[in-house]
Amino acid sequence: MSEAESSQTFPEIRESVRKLCAEFPGTYWQKLDREREYPKEFVQALTDAGFLSVLIPEEYGGSGLGVAAAAAVLEEIHRSGCNGGACHAQMYTMGVILRHGSEAQKRKYLPGIASGELRLQAFGVTEPTSGTDTTRLRTFAKRDGDHYVVNGQKIWISRAEHSDLMVLLCRTTPREEAKKPSDGMSVLIVDMREAVGNGLTIRPIRTMLNHATTELFLDNVRVPAENLIGKEGNGFKYVLDGMNAERILIAAECIGDGRFFIDRASAYAKDREVFGRPIGSNQAVQFPIARAHVQITAANMMVQHAANLFDAALPCGSEANMAKMVASEASWYAADMCVQTHGGFGFAEEFDIERKFRETRLYQVAPISTNLILSHVATHVLGLPKSF
Ligand SMILES: Cc1cc2nc3c(=O)[nH]c(=O)nc-3n(C[C@H](O)[C@H](O)[C@H](O)COP(=O)(O)OP(=O)(O)OC[C@H]3O[C@@H](n4cnc5c(N)ncnc54)[C@H](O)[C@@H]3O)c2cc1C
Repeated sequence: MSEAESSQTFPEIRESVRKLCAEFPGTYWQKLDREREYPKEFVQALTDAGFLSVLIPEEYGGSGLGVAAAAAVLEEIHRSGCNGGACHAQMYTMGVILRHGSEAQKRKYLPGIASGELRLQAFGVTEPTSGTDTTRLRTFAKRDGDHYVVNGQKIWISRAEHSDLMVLLCRTTPREEAKKPSDGMSVLIVDMREAVGNGLTIRPIRTMLNHATTELFLDNVRVPAENLIGKEGNGFKYVLDGMNAERILIAAECIGDGRFFIDRASAYAKDREVFGRPIGSNQAVQFPIARAHVQITAANMMVQHAANLFDAALPCGSEANMAKMVASEASWYAADMCVQTHGGFGFAEEFDIERKFRETRLYQVAPISTNLILSHVATHVLGLPKSF
């Protein structure tokens, strides 16, 4: 282990995650990928080991650690060649309940989420017509006695078929009647077990990676008013800090992916002989690997910085976004480098590189695309004129 690695955060956690992941080798993921199946055994093993409840305070059954610890878990999962995308949201989606829910809601949901009995890993924001322009989302919850009646459509809602609950962002006041565009949206906890077949239809979308993502159709779905988080109309503010946690944790997955590609490329470049010597003795092969290492190391510092700010409850919106951007670009560079280093074998399913290549590409688009991060930095950090 290098000096840089031995000074990594949470060494015990990392070691146990690595041990668990060793039980789920490439062949496991290749089969799931071919059949677009959900990695339920892997998710169960992570749940049983308590890795998905690290962010839940001890009083509600979790381990009460911070985002920096959760980042270590996800980084190691990804470095091991596994994928946390099937369950990472079980870690952080509950944050909106933890930070903005009532005590009764916390007692009702958090212990079950910590034990894994309740799966809260669906987060419904994106819509087909509004895309990134969240304030124009149209899904509407209309109050009717002690219920809300919800109508609308969501797209790219991941893990909806593997979740008992969903955190749904919807309008409760039309945009044009709200004081500000970001006002008038609310957060509801939707019990998927009751809603499916009672107005909620889930349609899986097959994508270039095995991500269990779906489209949702909500047709008069009745949600008890007691499932409203915080105050009606303030929902957008409530989801923002959860989004920061999500961006930092996805960035940590990118760091893990990057390290996976660098590990694999270094090993292959030392081993593979062409023209009578290891390909890694050519600088044209070495330098891209070294560059990937430099980029991942730098991006990791930004991820750690953003995680530390989040855990200290300091403002971290810009840092979380920047961390996600540099980490997703560094992992994509490493992915491309790794394919190139492997020549033809980079395309072979059994090497896992083509799968990881497809998987890591997602993170320049979701949960927020690079252009939107650049726009945030340009206008909010640098004070340039707004473009929208
Ligand atoms: C596999 C997958 C899983 C996902 N999981 C979830 C989930 O669980 N829950 C959820 O709510 N969403 C989820 N998403 C949605 C994801 O967050 C969005 O796809 C992403 O934020 C981009 O939004 P969009 O697809 O609507 O792109 P659009 O908003 O249509 O944008 C398309 C492109 O145009 C660019 N663009 C748009 N406007 C501007 C501008 N003003 N200036 C410059 N460039 C611009 C964008 O950067 C982007 O590259 C998922 C997406 C995928 C693909």
